[in-house]
Amino acid sequence: MHDLVIRHGTIIDGTGRPRVVGDVAIDGGTIAAVGEVGGRGRREIDARDLLVAPGWVDVHTHYDGQVTWDPILAPSSWHGVTTLVMGNCGVGFAPVRPGQEDFLIELMEGVEDIPGSALHEGIAWRWESFPEYLDALAAMPRVLDVAAQVPHCALRAYVLGERAHDLELSADEIAAMARLTEEAVRAGAVGFTTSRTILHSSRHGLVPGTHSTPAELLALGGALGAAGHGVFEMVADLQGQEPDLSWMREFCRATGRVITFALAQTPMQPTAWRDTLACIDELAAQGLHIVPQVPCRPTGMLYGLQSSLHPFISHPTYRDELAALPLAERVGRMREPAVRARLLAEEPAVANPIARLLMTNWPGIFPLGDPPDYEPPAERSVAAAAERAGKRPEEVVYDWLLERDGRQLLFAPLANYVDANFDALREMMLHPRTVLGLSDGGAHCGLIADASMPTFLLTHWVRDRRRGERIPLERAVHLQTGNTAAVYGLTDRGTLEPGKKGDVNVIDLDALRLHAPEMVFDLPAGGRRLVQHVDGYRATIVAGQVTFEDGEPTGARPGTLVRGRAAQP
Ligand SMILES: [Zn+2]
Repeated sequence: MHDLVIRHGTIIDGTGRPRVVGDVAIDGGTIAAVGEVGGRGRREIDARDLLVAPGWVDVHTHYDGQVTWDPILAPSSWHGVTTLVMGNCGVGFAPVRPGQEDFLIELMEGVEDIPGSALHEGIAWRWESFPEYLDALAAMPRVLDVAAQVPHCALRAYVLGERAHDLELSADEIAAMARLTEEAVRAGAVGFTTSRTILHSSRHGLVPGTHSTPAELLALGGALGAAGHGVFEMVADLQGQEPDLSWMREFCRATGRVITFALAQTPMQPTAWRDTLACIDELAAQGLHIVPQVPCRPTGMLYGLQSSLHPFISHPTYRDELAALPLAERVGRMREPAVRARLLAEEPAVANPIARLLMTNWPGIFPLGDPPDYEPPAERSVAAAAERAGKRPEEVVYDWLLERDGRQLLFAPLANYVDANFDALREMMLHPRTVLGLSDGGAHCGLIADASMPTFLLTHWVRDRRRGERIPLERAVHLQTGNTAAVYGLTDRGTLEPGKKGDVNVIDLDALRLHAPEMVFDLPAGGRRLVQHVDGYRATIVAGQVTFEDGEPTGARPGTLVRGRAAQP
C-alpha cells in the first residue's frame, strides 16, 4: 500500500525526457515509483488527461517578511510553486541588530515596494543572527518549502551600523562580514545576494553595497567557497559586462561556486545580451559557472488607478483632489468632463526623470486586458492607438484607465520587449546556461504581479503563443523544475524520479487560465498587493501531501525550510 498514487497521468518528469503516460507513487513524502504502479494507494488521484509534473521551483522571490506570518505564501502557492528561494537582490531581514528593524524595512519597502506598515505589523523579529532566522523559519509550518539567502544590505547594516552605506571598509570589517556569511551558509542559507543597480534605492539612497569593491565581493563570495555550497546572486546594471566580469571570473575560479545575475534585453543596448551569452559560453568551457537569470515574460509594470504609478498620478488635480478618494468615487469624478479636461491640460509634476519617462513612454504602454495579453503587438500601444484615433496619447490612456470600473491595468514592460515580441526572450530562455527566475514573488506589490510566471510558461509558451515559436512542454517543465533546482543545488527535488521529494503538480492544461491581476488589501495593516488568480491546477502536492485541490488550500502544511548543504564527495 502506497501513501499516494497519481494514476494514468501524462508524466512530464522535469528532466526534459519525453512524456509518458503512467502512475506516480509517493511514500513517506518521497517518490517511490514512476511508471506502472501495481499496489493501491491509501489515497489515489485520477490524472487521466492531466499533466503530472514536479512542483515548480521558483528561485527568485522576496517573501522574506511574509514568510514569517503567512503559511500560504500566495500568490506563488496558487501557481504550483512548491519550493521558493527568498532573500534575493541584497535585501532581507537577517542578520539584524535590535533597533535596526526599521532600517531593513525601509530598504525592502524602497527596493521591492512591499508596504512598510505590513512588514512592521507582520514581522515578529524572533531572531538576530542569520542562523536564528533560519531556525525561526524552520519552526513554522507552511504549504510549501522555502530557502533563504544572506542579503548583503542586512549584513552591512549588522556589521557597519550607521556606516552601512560606506564604501571604504577596513580589512577587519570585511572579514567580519565574510565570517557571518560563512556561518549563515553553513547553517543552511542557499546563497548570498547583492544589488549593483541604480534602480534599487530607498529613502536612504542607493542600497548598501551597491558600489562595493571587488575586494569586498570576493571576500564575501569566498565564504561560499569555504562553506562548499551556495549561489552568489545579484541584480546589476552591468549585467555581467566589464568591469564586473573580471571579479565574477575571479570569484568562480577561486570558489568553484555559481554566480547568477539578472540578464535583460534593454532599450539602450538591445543586442548586448547576445554578447554576454557568448562570453558566458566561453567561460563555461573553462569550467566557470556563470548563470544569467531570465524571466519568461518581460518584467512588466502594471499601471492602474490602484497601482503605485500611472500616467496621471503626479498631476496636481489628481494628487490634490482625487488620489485619496475611494476607487468608485475617484472613477466617478474622473468621468466628469470638467475634471477630464483639467487633468488632460496638466503635466506630470514628478521630479524623478526616470519615473516621468516611464509614465509617458507611449509606444511601450499597452492595455493588459482580461484575459491578460503579455505579448501585445506594437499596433496595440497607446502611441499607435492614439495615432489611429487622431487623439493625444494622454486622452487614450485616460479612457483606458477608467475601463473595468477603474480596474483596468496597463502593461509597461521594463525590458525584454524592445522589438515588441518575445523572440529575444525565447532565445535567452532556451540558452543552455540560463536559469528562469525574476518572478519577484511577494514583492513590487503596488506595480508588478509576476509570481504567476510558472503558470504563464505553460499557458503562453507551451499552449497559446501565436506570434512566434512556442516551447515544447518537456523543455518548459524542465526549465521551471529540474533546471532551477539544479542551479541552487537542491538535488533532492525538481524531477519525478524514485527517491526525489514528492512535490507534484497535477494540471489540466486545457483549462489552465490566468485571471487578470487585481489589487487586494489583505496584507497586515490592510496593506495592498497585486495578486493574480488561476484556474487549472487540479492538485498541488508537497512531500506527498495535497496542499491545494482545485485552487483551494486543503489545510495541509507539509512545507519546511530547505537548508543548503555541501554536496557529499
Ligand atoms: Zn529581486
